[in-house]
Amino acid sequence: MTARTIDGKALAARIHAGIARRVKSLQDRGVTPGLAVVLVGDDPASAIYVRNKVRACEAVGIRSFLVQLADNTSRATLLGRVAELNADPGVHGILVQLPLPRHLDAREIVDAIAFDKDVDGLHATNAGLTLLGRPRSRSCTPYGVMMMLESIPYPVQGCDAVLIGRSNMVGKPMAMLLLAANATVTMCHSATRDLAAVTRQADVLVAAAGRRNLVTADMIKPGAVVIDVGTNRTPEGKLCGDVDFAEVREIAGWISPVPGGVGPMTVAMLLVNTVEAAERSIGTSPQGPWLAESDPSAAVAAPR
Ligand code: NAD
Repeated sequence: MTARTIDGKALAARIHAGIARRVKSLQDRGVTPGLAVVLVGDDPASAIYVRNKVRACEAVGIRSFLVQLADNTSRATLLGRVAELNADPGVHGILVQLPLPRHLDAREIVDAIAFDKDVDGLHATNAGLTLLGRPRSRSCTPYGVMMMLESIPYPVQGCDAVLIGRSNMVGKPMAMLLLAANATVTMCHSATRDLAAVTRQADVLVAAAGRRNLVTADMIKPGAVVIDVGTNRTPEGKLCGDVDFAEVREIAGWISPVPGGVGPMTVAMLLVNTVEAAERSIGTSPQGPWLAESDPSAAVAAPR
């Protein structure tokens, strides 16, 4: 049977509708959520990501502040701009687009963001809170993946979840969120001896290695949920994930495509984190859930 597609674009659109309602409610109380996006240098991929984030803000009523800095911006100048944004009451969320030019230490810059404005969820305090099972700002991509899992009738509780990738941005926080959802979690990485033997045990497989066609049909347990985080390019320049989609969809039960899967969800969760930061700034506890307001099957395409 061909897998059902988890449509991240449709799911993100549903979440955007909920965000727009929460932004309106904040505006009624005199607060417009504000997101500052800091872009250092002229990396073309980063420029596209930043543009998409700014546009997504505009669409839901979040005010965006684009801070564009030259490639040779010094550490002191960048830290100074971050400090200004930390102190600005109109800015509820700050995102420093990664990667940074090589002379800048991303860890130092991210940790300089006030942790309650760190809407990327990458600050050491937010990473630690996620580790402790008390997340505030969750790392956007793993948070988006959790929403995708929530949107399908597949119980994460008790399932065997396997992750490919152990980065601070994706793999590690993903493991913590799955653990908090009571999955049994196994993490694979570049030194894993027999990747296929591990992935074949997975009820839920999250691929985040950044290697095109790393995940093939023989690595999939029949009926498994396969979420593809990877963003790679084919030799022709087309965007693709880590999973051989055409092959794997014949074995899996659910599968997320690239493009149109995790990417739009990552942006949606950035907006969610920004709205929740604005809500906290006026002493309102963020109220979930973000997916409860419409038909939970709406983002799952019918079997083909
Ligand atoms: P990273 O390079 O920091 O980490 C990659 C991880 O994959 C490492 O832990 C490495 O050990 C593991 N790995 C690499 N090759 C492997 C192999 N052959 N077998 C097993 N493990 C292997 O990358 P990242 O920041 O975690 O991102 C991973 C991928 O996800 C990239 O393609 C990135 O572009 C993509 N990404 C997409 C989004 C999105 O919104 N769609 C967001 C973040 C990252």
